[in-house]
Amino acid sequence: MTDEELMRRALDEARAAAALGEVPVGAVVARHGQVVAAAHNTRETGRNATHHAELLAIDAACRALDGWRLWECELFVTLEPCPMCMGAILNSRIPRVVYGAPDAKAGCCGSVVDLAALPFNHHPRVEGGLLEAESAALLAEFFAALRARRAEQKALGIPTAWQLRKARRAAAQAEHKEETP
Ligand SMILES: [Zn+2]
Repeated sequence: MTDEELMRRALDEARAAAALGEVPVGAVVARHGQVVAAAHNTRETGRNATHHAELLAIDAACRALDGWRLWECELFVTLEPCPMCMGAILNSRIPRVVYGAPDAKAGCCGSVVDLAALPFNHHPRVEGGLLEAESAALLAEFFAALRARRAEQKALGIPTAWQLRKARRAAAQAEHKEETP
């Protein structure tokens, strides 16, 4: 598969994330142009801060190849990797990373910081901007829909998931206080 085909596969993963209500980010680990592992962000459904697309794809690739050194692999991801995922890329010795859209808030391939350029023991080659418009459009569409939904809920006086969790926590604490003499 070509770079573009591999990034299209990562975009399919990003769409699968969006369908779950997750921030649409998808990743593929490939070896010699063949997909070894593919994954998408499941931070909300997995209720886990580490469930980023890249980490899940690296984890699956290590299992598929039965080893932690992914030195023959390449990572394709729709969004510039965050510090956690760049850490996993450095630790798994992936020699080449290709991403789609830059991430001004958390990107660690030059947007916030360039971790690949720092004097670590591994220096992956990083290329950005492959199918950037499509990756960025997916994200923009997702956040626009999220904002619209929140505005609608607010207008109708429907509490958000965060407000419901806060209310449940407060109720649990009140109950605990009553039980404690
Ligand atoms: Zn990440």
